Amino acid sequence: MEDRRPQRVAALRASLAESGFDAMLVTSLANIRYLTGFSGSAALLVVPAGGRPVLMTDFRYEVQVVEEVGSFAEVRIEPTSLWAGLRETLVGLEGGERIAFESAHVLHLDFERLADLAARWQWRGTVGVVEALRERKDAGELALIRQAVRIAEEALSRTIREVRIGLSERQVAGILEHHLRDLGSDATPFETIVASGERSALPHARASTRELQGGEFLLIDFGASYGGYCSDITRTFALRSVNPEMQAIHDIVREATLSASAGVRVGMRGRDADAIARGYIEGRGYGALFGHSLGHGIGLEVHEGPRLARTADAPLPPGAVVTIEPGIYRPGWGGVRIEDDVHLADAGPEVLTIFPRDLLVIG
Ligand code: ZN
Ligand code: ZN
Repeated sequence: MEDRRPQRVAALRASLAESGFDAMLVTSLANIRYLTGFSGSAALLVVPAGGRPVLMTDFRYEVQVVEEVGSFAEVRIEPTSLWAGLRETLVGLEGGERIAFESAHVLHLDFERLADLAARWQWRGTVGVVEALRERKDAGELALIRQAVRIAEEALSRTIREVRIGLSERQVAGILEHHLRDLGSDATPFETIVASGERSALPHARASTRELQGGEFLLIDFGASYGGYCSDITRTFALRSVNPEMQAIHDIVREATLSASAGVRVGMRGRDADAIARGYIEGRGYGALFGHSLGHGIGLEVHEGPRLARTADAPLPPGAVVTIEPGIYRPGWGGVRIEDDVHLADAGPEVLTIFPRDLLVIG
C-alpha cells in the first residue's frame, strides 16, 4: 500500500503555517497513528514546520516503533518520562517558538508541565487540526474500513444462526466477539451493545444478564477493527415472532435509514443529512422518540468527524465514511435502530454495509 504519511504531514504543516505555528505537539494516539503509523499506547509527537517529525515513546515499544515507523520520524525511546524527553526535543528544534498543542487531548496535569516550559515556548491550544485531515479517507483507509465492514457482517451472520431464546445478552455478545476475533478483527472498537426486549429502547444499553424471550426485539450494535480502522453496524431482529407494531416501527426506521443513505451528499451540511431521516420519522409521528444524532464519521476511531446532527453546520467532505443510524425508542416497550456505513464519494454515496435491513426473525 502506498505510504501516505508524507502527504499527511505535509497537509498538517500547511495547516500550521496558515495559523502561524512553528511546530505542533500531537498527543492524541489516533492522530499519532495517522501521521506516523505508530500504534502503541504511549507517545508524544512533535511535528516541526521543517525537518523530520520526532516521536517519543518508551522501552515497551522499542521494537514495535521501529517496525511501524521506520525512518519516517526520528524515534526517541525515553528512559524516564515522555515529558522530560519533550523538553530535550524542543531544545533541539530549530526555528520559532509558537507551538500548537491539542486542547482536547492534554490532561490538565500535563498542561501544567507545558506551562512550566512556557518561559521558553509559547503554547497555543488548538482543536481538531489533525482530525480535520482524517475526515477524508484515502484509498488505503477505505480498503481497511471495507474489510472491517465485511468482518462485522460475516460475524453477525454467524452469530444470528446461534442465537437462541434463553441465552443472555452477554452470551450473545460473547458469541459475536468470538466470531469477530476468529474472522480477523484486531479488537472490539467499542463495547458491543446487545439489548433485548424493553432494553432495546436504551440507545446505549450494555449487554446484560437479561435472557432473550420470544416476541421481542434484539438490537445488536457493534463493530470490527481491521488495520486500526473501524466499522460500526446496528441491526434489530425479532426473536421467534413479530407483531404488527414491531413490524410497523421497524419499517419506519428502515425507510429512514435507506432514504438518508441514498440522499446524503458531499458538500451537504451535516444538519441537512440529519434532517432527511428525522423529517421522515417526524412525518410518521415518532420524532420525539428519535433523540440522538443521525450519525458520525468512522475511521481510526469509532466516533470522529464529520458529524451528522441537528447542530452540524459543516459541509460533509469528500471521501468521508459516515454512519447513518436513525432509531425509534419507546421506553418500556423497545426500540429499533438500523445503522449503515456510507462512503461519501464525489459521484454519490456508496453504502458499504450489505447485511439485510428487513426485520429478520431469529432464535
Ligand atoms: Zn453503532
Ligand atoms: Zn455509530
